[in-house]
Formats: sequence, structure tokens, C-alpha cells
Amino acid sequence: MYFKVTPAHRYVKVEANGREGEVTFPTWLPGSYVIREMERNIVFIDGIRISKNKFWVRENFSYKVYTMSWDQREAISTGNYMFLNGPAVFPFQSFDERYCIELNLPEGWKANTTLRKEGERTLCARDYHELADSSIQASPDLKEYKIDELHKISTVDVLDEEFLNKLRLVVSKEDEVFSAVDPLLSSREYIFYFRFSSNPRGGIEHSNSSAITSSWNSELTSLVEVFAHEYFHRLNVKYLKPKDLKLNYEMETYTELLWFAEGVTDYMAYKLSWKSGGIKLQDFLKRIAESLQKLTFRGGMMSLAESSMTAWIKYYRRDENYLNSAVSYYDGGLILGLILDLSLFRKGLRIEDQFRKIPREYTLYDLQEAFSEAEVDLEVSRLPSREMLKLVRNFIDVDTPDRDRPYLGISLDGDVVSFVEDDSPADQAGVCPRDKVLSVNGRPAEAILKEIEKGKQVHLLLSRDGRLQEIGVVVGKSPGHGIRISGKDVSTKWAGEEFKFEVPSRVI
Ligand SMILES: [Zn+2]
Repeated sequence: MYFKVTPAHRYVKVEANGREGEVTFPTWLPGSYVIREMERNIVFIDGIRISKNKFWVRENFSYKVYTMSWDQREAISTGNYMFLNGPAVFPFQSFDERYCIELNLPEGWKANTTLRKEGERTLCARDYHELADSSIQASPDLKEYKIDELHKISTVDVLDEEFLNKLRLVVSKEDEVFSAVDPLLSSREYIFYFRFSSNPRGGIEHSNSSAITSSWNSELTSLVEVFAHEYFHRLNVKYLKPKDLKLNYEMETYTELLWFAEGVTDYMAYKLSWKSGGIKLQDFLKRIAESLQKLTFRGGMMSLAESSMTAWIKYYRRDENYLNSAVSYYDGGLILGLILDLSLFRKGLRIEDQFRKIPREYTLYDLQEAFSEAEVDLEVSRLPSREMLKLVRNFIDVDTPDRDRPYLGISLDGDVVSFVEDDSPADQAGVCPRDKVLSVNGRPAEAILKEIEKGKQVHLLLSRDGRLQEIGVVVGKSPGHGIRISGKDVSTKWAGEEFKFEVPSRVI
């Protein structure tokens, strides 16, 4: 198929040429485990609708896509900036034909892409999968930051030298791991498409590129981490992948191994960032402690396999009850990565060297084989994730300093209840998420911590969806969600120094 793309303010206009027949717009795009229904952004098409995402078209047809999602996994076109993730904009007929795109850009615009250039303005992919694995970024203000001969950042924003230097260290450290698996992997060019955003940080991986956003006020560490994570996907997910994670642009594909694909990628990205000097040990320990904290909640009853399978409906659709109902495969996978690494370290081995033993399409059995020296039964990924809190204690001291402290079992965002812990005193008394605290024992909401410390009971005056509600909560004892980690013999050696880190509980 052939597409001529014209960017406009809030839209891209596409003139397409294919065969008379059916075209399908993806409902799912690789790299993000949520049904996105990209056809929702089609505002016009000269074709006959067959279903929500299929149209009957003539050989030549045109369509218009709304492009104001601000999401690096979708499409953005604002009049002076265009970012297209292939499957967010382009439909398919058959997968195995060539797909070419002509960019009809205004005078003075520049574009970056990993698609092959054919002539002045045309970019081609050998099949739909390559198109879906490619992005295009264009703007009159587009610039490039060179990381090294093969890696660059394409952006309209300003990045400072300190960040670029750290990223250089991280990329070359990850390349060492990649080239031990396959020297070809780190020998090709790679583009990081980047944009600061009002949205939180996020990214999507492709084989030879990734698209990353980060909030304007994000710290240097956070920026390094998100780049490191997406870049490690070049190996884990784009080169090595769970065997059952097949491409299907129209529905979910299930795997029990997202904890390895995403969580162990997090572990490796943070570890290699630390080892290369991109982030500090304390930053890495913070991620470990924060992930351990998540396992202390009721959601820690969920296994990592289940967490992976429910990414579609739980992780990507998190609500205020998430900590009670699920655990993230990122958090659990990071901890299982740590356990694997520390048990390998005890034997004088490193987790980064085991990736050579993983087949291109892996199963849990293959991972068990590849990490057999670690003597960790990976069936733990099918048990409640909390089991890993026990396992990790073989290597690291983990305390919960707030255990048995006076507690109600809620988290507050300002004066609004953002979380109610299952079976906590607040739960038993009937407090609900989104209740607004008007007063505590007749005192302003800010006094809540002091009032919990003081008494056996607190009286909450709440506004629930605009109606007054008075609830007395008997103060109970916290199960402990604050996490303090410190080194034992093996982990102190692994860290190269004595270490300690603490994350406080946000549940009061
Ligand atoms: Zn990822």
C-alpha cells in the first residue's frame, strides 16, 4: 500500500493507494498491552464501514485522522510538529506487501525515521510489521543530539550535556550486553524520538528506535531510567521475546511472562544505569524499595503470571483499588530480577551474562534453563508475588518500620481519600475512595495524623459525592507498608559498599 501524508493542525490527512477491498485499522499496537482502538481517531474515510475497524475501499481512497492524543504510542499533529507511530495511523490489507509513505511536508520541515528512504520524500517498509515497528517524527524545529556514531536523539526540545553524557555511558553499557548475545544487535543505527510533555514519563520500544516522553519537571535520574528501559527492550522484547507473545493487531495476545519482558527489563535498565554511572546506587535502591513496598499489599496475593495475563484489564486500567486487587509485573519482575542476580552473584556470576543462553522465543522453561545456576525456582512467578518478599530476605535485610503503628488504612491525596486498604479499620468503618475529609474530631483535615496518634477512635466528617457522611473509625495497627532495606554479606559485596534505603508508607 502507498500513503501520502499531509500534516495539518490537529489532523493528518492521508491519500492512500491499495487494492479495492477491505482495509483494517489496528485495535492494538505492539509494545503496549491495552486495546487502543486506533480507528476511533478516524474522522473521515471515503469507504464503506464493515465493522468498527474495517472499511471497504476503492483502489484510491483518502481518510483523516484526529491526532491530539499527546501519546507517543499514537499520533500527534499540531501544525508545527508531527509524530506518527505507524499502526496508529496506517491500516493494512495484507501483511506481506510493501508499505510506502510519501511525506507531504511544508517547506522547511525536517523528518526522522528508521524507515528506508526511497527518493526525496518516500519511505518504505518491506511489510506491515516493519511499518508497525517504525515511527516518523517531523517538524521545522526538529534537531538531533548525537550520542555516538550509531545512536541519536531526535527532538524539538533542549537536552543538556550532563544528561547526554550519562546516556552515553548507559547506552554503551547496554551495548556490551547486546553484543555478547548478537554482535549485529548493537551495530545498527538507533533513534530515540523524544518529547517533553505535561503527561508523566512513558515510552514505547521498536527494534531500531523508541519513542519517549518525560514530564517537564522530571529529574535527571528519571530521564536516564526511561531511556535505559526503552533501550534495553532492543534486546529483551524486540530480539528475545516470550514465545506466546505473537503479533495480532486486532486483539490481545496473552503471555505469563510480561514480568520478564518488562519487569526484568526494568531491573536490567536500572542496574546497568547504576553500573555505568548513569544513576547513583541510591537511585537504584529506591526503585528496589518502592517495588518491594507494592508487594506488601493485598494485591501481592496475585502471581506475576496472573499480573502479566491481566495487563490488559488491570495494569493499563489501574484504579484506586489497584493495590488491593493486583500487583504490577514491573514491580514483581524487578524484584525477581534482583533475586536472580543476587543468587548468581553468590556464585560469582552476573545476570547480564545469562541473556546469551535465552532462546529468541522463550518460555518459562527456557528461562529456568538459562538461569539454572541461580537456583531460583521460577515457578515462584506462578505463586502469590508476596513469596518474593520472603525470597529476597535471603540476600537483603527488609524491615517494615511502621508495622503496628496506629493506622486507619487510607491514603490521602490532599484531603481526598485516594485508597482504602481492604480489611483495614477505615474499610470496616465504611470509608470510600474519593471521600473528601472535611474534619477529623472536629479539627481540620490536616490534623489527621496527630489525631490518629492520639486516640483510640477518630470521627471523620466526609463529603461523599457531595453528601455529608459522618464515620467513626477505630484506630488499628498497621500491617507495615514502609520499607527499609539494608545490605547483608552477599548484597553488600554486590553493591560494593554498605547500603541502606527507606521508603515511608503512604498509608495512614
Ligand atoms: Zn517496557
